[in-house]
Amino acid sequence: MAAMRDIAHPIGRSVARGLAGRCPNCAQGRMFWKYLKVSSRCEACDQDLARYPADDGPAYLTILLVGHLIVAPMLFFPIVWESNPLISVPIILGALSVLTLLALPRVKGGWVGLMYALNVTSSDSAIHTADAAD
Ligand SMILES: [Zn+2]
Repeated sequence: MAAMRDIAHPIGRSVARGLAGRCPNCAQGRMFWKYLKVSSRCEACDQDLARYPADDGPAYLTILLVGHLIVAPMLFFPIVWESNPLISVPIILGALSVLTLLALPRVKGGWVGLMYALNVTSSDSAIHTADAAD
């Protein structure tokens, strides 16, 4: 059984810096060098940002947020059901697409910030495989 990992850095501060797209260590350097590409090293403090895994976590969390917090409540509004689907569906899907694309880098930044705070690195990925359970 794996031992509990100590929290290496303040979680709230690290996640907030990541949500802002900043380095979780110094909050000065940018987290991404492209839309969803995490910088290999922070340009301000030289922190190795590429070592913190994101994998599919940010995508699942973004789907959870958009799907459960936006889509489900939206279905309670009668205008969604009473309007012409040829008009409402493209508008709703377009707005949800834009919202998802805006949320995804922020969620990924927060995710990397969380991995930084918990000091979970790519080398820890072996503990998530079925072989490690033996
Ligand atoms: Zn930094």
